[in-house]
Amino acid sequence: MKRILVAEDNDSNFLLMNFILKNNYEIIRAINGKDAVEKATLEHPDLILMDMKMPVMGGIEATRLIRVTYPDLPIIAVTANAFDSDRQNALEAGCNDFLAKPVTAAACLKSIEGLLHDA
Ligand SMILES: [Mg+2]
Repeated sequence: MKRILVAEDNDSNFLLMNFILKNNYEIIRAINGKDAVEKATLEHPDLILMDMKMPVMGGIEATRLIRVTYPDLPIIAVTANAFDSDRQNALEAGCNDFLAKPVTAAACLKSIEGLLHDA
C-alpha cells in the first residue's frame, strides 16, 4: 500500500482527508511544515498532501526544503485560497498539483492517482 503524508494542522481537515484516503492508502500525519520536512525523511512517503497555511512552518517553505532532498516526490498543495497567485506560488515552490478547499474525494483521488501513476 502506498504511503501518503498528510501535512495538515487542522484536526477536522485531517479527519476528512483520512476518511477519503484510508481505504486505499497508508496515512501518516504531519501537524506543521517542520513536522512534514522531518517525516518526509523519516517515513518515506510516496506522496505528500501539503496544507499551505500551517503554524511553525508553512507549506511553501516546507515544500522548498523537501525539494532539496527529494526532487521527484509528488507534492500536492492544499489551500483555502483559490486565487491564481496562490496556485502559482505553490507550483513555483515545487508542488506538482493544487487542490482548493473544501477538498472533494473525487478531486483528491484523481490528483493522487495521476501523480502516483506517473511516478
Ligand atoms: Mg492550515
